[in-house]
Amino acid sequence: MKTYILFGPPGAGKGTHAGAIAEKYNLRHISTGALLREEIAAGSELGKQAKALIDAGELVPDAVVEGMIENAFDTVKGVDGFLLDGFPRNLQQAADLDAILAKRGEAVTAVVALMIPDEMIYTRIQGRALIEGRADDASDEVISNRIKTYHTQTEPLIEYYSKAGKYHEVECTRPTIEENRANVLALVDSIA
Ligand code: ADP
Repeated sequence: MKTYILFGPPGAGKGTHAGAIAEKYNLRHISTGALLREEIAAGSELGKQAKALIDAGELVPDAVVEGMIENAFDTVKGVDGFLLDGFPRNLQQAADLDAILAKRGEAVTAVVALMIPDEMIYTRIQGRALIEGRADDASDEVISNRIKTYHTQTEPLIEYYSKAGKYHEVECTRPTIEENRANVLALVDSIA
């Protein structure tokens, strides 16, 4: 099984491009953010606990998202691998993912990082807020806390995966989704 990590700051387009990548390479797209939002919508205990953290722009506990990832690894069949979107998001999660995969005799295949500058994060997320209505997209304060969380907790993964020779980056700053998608798919083609 292949394990690709779709990486990048909030609003870079991970969710926007994941479907095309997953389809082309027969991968199951797993978005920890989307799974958490499903728990919230279902009104589960887990969802209730996660909601306050998500709405504040903080990360939910590692064990919560890691449980979701292991559950997917255990149950999903009939694909050539996984496209992890929004996981791992800190160094502990990255180390835990390595351990989870090692137990299964597997390893991270590659990291595909979608990059945009901080200023663009605001405009992208404000645009998305009008369409998707996500609570954590609604206020500048929460967006800026998510950007801070990204820089302090998630960005160190760039060095972690670069050292492992697995880090690949593509700029996603073009004005249209199609142009960015073409660049993303070209990058994945070059490493797949
Ligand atoms: P975005 O890419 O816009 O930040 P996501 O859907 O990936 O949106 O994540 C939304 C929120 O869900 C995050 O801000 C965080 O609170 C929570 N979340 C998602 N993935 C993780 C993770 N791997 N670890 C901890 N919290 C997570």
